Amino acid sequence: MHTLSSHSLPAPVHYTLTPAHPGAHLFKVSCELAQPDPAGQRFWLPAWIPGSYMIREFARNIVTLSAEAGGRPVVLTKLDKHTWQAASVPAGVRLRVEYEVYAWDLSVRAAHLDSTHGFFNGTSVFLAAEGQTDQPCTVDILPPLDPALHDWKLATTLARDPSCPVDEATAFGRFRAQDYDELVDHPVEMGRFTEAAFDVAGVRHEIVLTGRHDCDLPRLCEDLSRVCAWQIALFGTPAPVSRYLFMAMVVGDGYGGLEHRASTALMTSRKDLPYRGMRGRSEGYTSFLGLCSHEYFHTWNVKRIKPAAFVPYRYGEENYTRLLWVFEGFTSYYDDLALLRSGVIGVEDYLALLGKTISRVLSGSGRLKQSVADSSFDAWSKFYRQDENAPNAIVSYYAKGALIALALDLKLRAGSEGRVSLDTLMRILWQRHGLTGVGVEEGAIFDLVAELAEQAAPGAGRLLARWLRSMVSGTEDLPLVRLLRGFGVDLKMEAASSAPSLGVKLATGAGEVKLAQVHDDGAAQRAGLSAGDVLIALDGLRVSSGELDTMLMRRTPGEKVDIHAFRRDELMRFEVELDPPARHQARLTLRETADATALRLRKGWLSGG
Ligand code: ZN
Repeated sequence: MHTLSSHSLPAPVHYTLTPAHPGAHLFKVSCELAQPDPAGQRFWLPAWIPGSYMIREFARNIVTLSAEAGGRPVVLTKLDKHTWQAASVPAGVRLRVEYEVYAWDLSVRAAHLDSTHGFFNGTSVFLAAEGQTDQPCTVDILPPLDPALHDWKLATTLARDPSCPVDEATAFGRFRAQDYDELVDHPVEMGRFTEAAFDVAGVRHEIVLTGRHDCDLPRLCEDLSRVCAWQIALFGTPAPVSRYLFMAMVVGDGYGGLEHRASTALMTSRKDLPYRGMRGRSEGYTSFLGLCSHEYFHTWNVKRIKPAAFVPYRYGEENYTRLLWVFEGFTSYYDDLALLRSGVIGVEDYLALLGKTISRVLSGSGRLKQSVADSSFDAWSKFYRQDENAPNAIVSYYAKGALIALALDLKLRAGSEGRVSLDTLMRILWQRHGLTGVGVEEGAIFDLVAELAEQAAPGAGRLLARWLRSMVSGTEDLPLVRLLRGFGVDLKMEAASSAPSLGVKLATGAGEVKLAQVHDDGAAQRAGLSAGDVLIALDGLRVSSGELDTMLMRRTPGEKVDIHAFRRDELMRFEVELDPPARHQARLTLRETADATALRLRKGWLSGG
């Protein structure tokens, strides 16, 4: 049985949290205030979680809610979808709200609880006390009541309350945060997980894996420690944290990550983890390392170097910024680059990853309609709420943002004979915004780019800033072929298959040949086919998803084929004129005959010199 010492006083805002009913997926939580608002204390739960730009209305998962003060019930009135107001209570009387949170969202963004483990983000479980979010708070995180779960342990980067002993064996106990922002920026995992640790630059890095797995932990530690060391060196020591936690939920099929100030919550497929005796590196493992690298880079870029729009976070509504191409795009550029520069992957692997990013951007016509500035601004209603028309309407501020970072890096390097680069820009952002906490205003990146380029070559600053603005707020494709050529790298666009194109993307795993997406102006769309249609036959022969490509391979572009398809339950017939194979696959190769300047620039870019 776990008890907390009675001599330690809770903070003015004090929470308790218990994984009370794992079978019903319910956390029981209380919030106690020493000095509630005499006019009637308000409480609210965030509508979104920083890092995931979508209104999720976490308060919908609060199942029961009650309040008491001095042993008497206090009436709570709901004011809107996530705000409650308590009736006023006499001065000097503590007000306590108790509630249950339904936790059955297996993602990195919310909360999950069953008899195998518990996970939560503070934004899903801790009610904020209006007017008191700047106050220090304490939270007692208690172990499960069920004796069968007595061996659960806890993992989090929340600071332990120094005045209160923590159960060393399980780590359950009292934690402390300077304010509400800090409280909700340290997710918590509990259960029977496996642990590993490594030290880099004086920072303790811990890995916690929940779920069944056969991960080669020493291998993972070895690879991650290189990536972390490289990133810390990029921004300079000391690192912004003294402790960092990678917490991963291992599942059969899943992928995702969310950044926090001293940790990241990850979701990964079991098969993407390295196993003992694995030779080389699987594609899945490379992608998992890229995910870890991405979230770790956010420790600087977005958790500390923040858009002004996030200073402070406003949890009840959308926080609009046109800069996600910097905070997600630049992070996406550096996630794979860090794998290369830290020696975890080789140049060929890196160029293949870069090729994938280029292909992703160029395969959607949405890039010709939406700028990355607009995509950032509309993340809440578009990028995070994609439907079947997404490739025709949306550009990814991750993928195109990464290409803008690449193009900017190459331009800065080429214009300064390698003395100035995107690394320089990141370090200045860290000095001016990360260390000071001053948010990055919407136009600040352009000014900074102008300043850097001007230093390298007088007169170049304004030009480069103007170019960057046009790339960010326009829809023109980036001049990557030309830029890469200057670095001794050839970029060619190829077709993934020699089969004529229908201009569609098929749904996976459906068993039937269902159209997931129909590309604007493609053969299928011109013929009247639509996303959701299920193809039945091509020229009178039954179609299966595995054989569609083989059937099309025997046709030529311009040829007409007869397609039968179901739209809902109605059989329809379409005459489709086939297109030439789409050349969306980017292939990057090192040019053998590159001149000395190109070779020097290339070496600097790929090795980080
Ligand atoms: Zn990110």
